[in-house]
Order: sequence, then C-alpha cells, then structure tokens
Amino acid sequence: MTPEGRFSLPLTEPSLGADELRYLSDCIQSGWVSSAGPFVQAFETAFAGFCGVSHAVATASGTAALHLALLALGVGPGDEVLVPTLTFVATANAVSHTGALPVFIDSERNSWTIDPDQLEKAITPRTKAVIPVHLYGHPAEMDRILEVAARHQLAVIEDASEAHGARYKGKRVGGLGDVAAFSFYGSKIITTGEGGMVVTDRADLAEKMQVLRDHGRSRENRYEHPVRGFNYRMSNVQAALGLAQMKRIDEHVTAKRRIAQAYGQALCNIPGLTLPPQATWAENVYWLYSILVDKRLFGATRDGLVSKLWNLGIEARPIFFPLHRQPIYQTGQSLPVAEQLAEQGISLPSSTRLGDQELERVVQAILSPA
Ligand SMILES: *Cc1c(COP(=O)(O)O)cnc(C)c1O
Repeated sequence: MTPEGRFSLPLTEPSLGADELRYLSDCIQSGWVSSAGPFVQAFETAFAGFCGVSHAVATASGTAALHLALLALGVGPGDEVLVPTLTFVATANAVSHTGALPVFIDSERNSWTIDPDQLEKAITPRTKAVIPVHLYGHPAEMDRILEVAARHQLAVIEDASEAHGARYKGKRVGGLGDVAAFSFYGSKIITTGEGGMVVTDRADLAEKMQVLRDHGRSRENRYEHPVRGFNYRMSNVQAALGLAQMKRIDEHVTAKRRIAQAYGQALCNIPGLTLPPQATWAENVYWLYSILVDKRLFGATRDGLVSKLWNLGIEARPIFFPLHRQPIYQTGQSLPVAEQLAEQGISLPSSTRLGDQELERVVQAILSPA
C-alpha cells in the first residue's frame, strides 16, 4: 500500500534494504547527521564514477542541483534559458529562481524530448543556456543540441533527474554537456529521500557550486562570505542512503528495462496504444513506463484509462502537463507536439520490484472493458 493507502500497485516505490539500514545506523551511532560526515564525499565519488565524470557535488534536492548549475554558469536576471515545455516544473523553476526567463521549446515526436530543430528560432542575444531533459529515462538528442549550443555559445545543462544510467550513443548521461543535474527524490531511480547531485568535468564549475551550496563560504576562511550562497547541502543521513543505493543502481536500471520489455511485449499490438520512444541513439532506462492512448482507436480516453486503473487499485498518472500552459508560466504559445503527447500520455506502475504477475495484472486492467 502507498502512504495514502489507496493503491495496491503504486506508480513507484523505493527499494531499500539491509545496507541502507546499516549505513543509517552508522550515522546515528557516530552522531554525524548533518552534512559533515563521511558519507557525503563517498557518495559523490561513487556517483561521479558511475557517470564517468570527474566532479560531483551533492545537494539537498534535484531542484537545488539545477539552480547551482545555472548560477555557476553565471545565468541571472535578463538572461534566457531554453527548456522543453514537456518536463517537470522544477526544470523551469530553477531558471526562474536565478532571475532568468525560461523559454519553452516543443518536443520531438521521436523521443518526447526537446526538439533540436526548434532551438535556433528561439535563440536571442539574451539566450545563455539550454537544458535538455532526458524525459522519463529517454536521453535527448545531445549531438544536435550541442552543435546548436556551440554555434551560439550556449551552456548545456543536462537535466538527468529521470535518467540515472541511461546512455546516449553508448555514453552515460551526465557527462554529455557542461554540467548535469540528478534528483534522488523517493520516486527516482535511486533515492536519498530528498536529494540531488550536480556532476561536471569542469573543475571551475565544481568549485563554484561547492561554495554556493555552503552559504558562499570562502574556501580559505569559513567565516568569510565573498558571495551570497545558499544552504543546499546534502546531509550525511541522505548520503548514507545514497551510497547504499549505489550498490543497487545497475540492478534498478536492469529492472526498469525488464519491466519495459514485459509491458512492450504485451501492449505492442493493441490498436490505439503507442509504446514509449526508443530512438536509435538512446538506451532508455524507462524511469516511468509511459505510453500514448489514442481514444479513437483504443476506445477510451487517456483520462478514462487512468480512472479505470485507479478503480482497480492501480496507480497511473497523466504525463507532465506542458509548462507553457501552467498557471505560473502561461505564454500563449502553441507547441503542438508536446500538447498532443500530454493529452495522450499515461505513466504506468514502474517499481523495480514489480514481478510478472503484477505486470500481467496491469496489462489485463488496461485491456479490460471499462
Ligand atoms: C524530479 C525532477 C526534478 C527535481 O527534483 P527534486 O529532487 O524533486 O527537486 C527536476 N527535473 C525533473 C525532470 C524531475 O523529474
């Protein structure tokens, strides 16, 4: 049961075990519960190694990670940052928190991620950066994004919050742009409860982010504050969970891909259902297994399918609502691909522990008469 007690099959559940408990006990026995303590650096080192990058800076959340990345790159008031409209609201909020303007870009049908063909026409002299989001575990088309970014001298920040372990042309996400942000919220591929990480190969950015994360303390004198920083630190308790989760991360990615394969086999020939994207360049890690429902061919709307599953104790949810239509950001734009995806998309239960019988239960529920 979920904390709400409503669903016998929740959308996602964290997978926690003996190692997590042992590391947490260590925090309690040692008294290292704040951000001083050995787990933070150990988790950073392990995660940087996993991504194949040289620096990692652990943070209080994925949103804080994005915010630090933008600040370290010098993004601020008067600047514009290109973001996909189809993403979680935090991607754009992090931009707004710097005083810059998020500029919303339509999705590419083939990958559901930011459309590289739409970038150039949105670029102005104020554009400073682009944030490709590896949506639902599917990498964005990085080479084409990097090429446009290089031509216009834009920084590239990957929002990899949903894509730990995904690969673009064989290379792990996180090392593809200037800097990348990850989230370890409870529903993500690994979790620290709340938490995040920025990774980069650039030592200058890593140092700026370390300073900004810790109240803007000078590295030489902790009681001197040359810049106005934040408390965006990760605690030793969160990092204890994170380090334990690193032992499972490959297992989690394998489980997500197994679940995707099972859903894919069962749903591939159902009229009106479209399986998640799988572009040729991508190794999708299927954070949330999400499909499209065409009501004319399927015989029910996406919302109808969500309620049917809910009534059977199965948690499903519509995919993200485009940010250009959110009350805080409404721009009056028409971004038709994202709008159509958002109208038809549904995320299905995707917990790593789901077995064949539970997956079969979801499939039968999808196919059952309303
Ligand atoms: C989860 C998520 C975030 C924010 O992460 P928090 O840890 O909840 O702050 C940012 N971007 C995307 C795409 C996400 O899915």
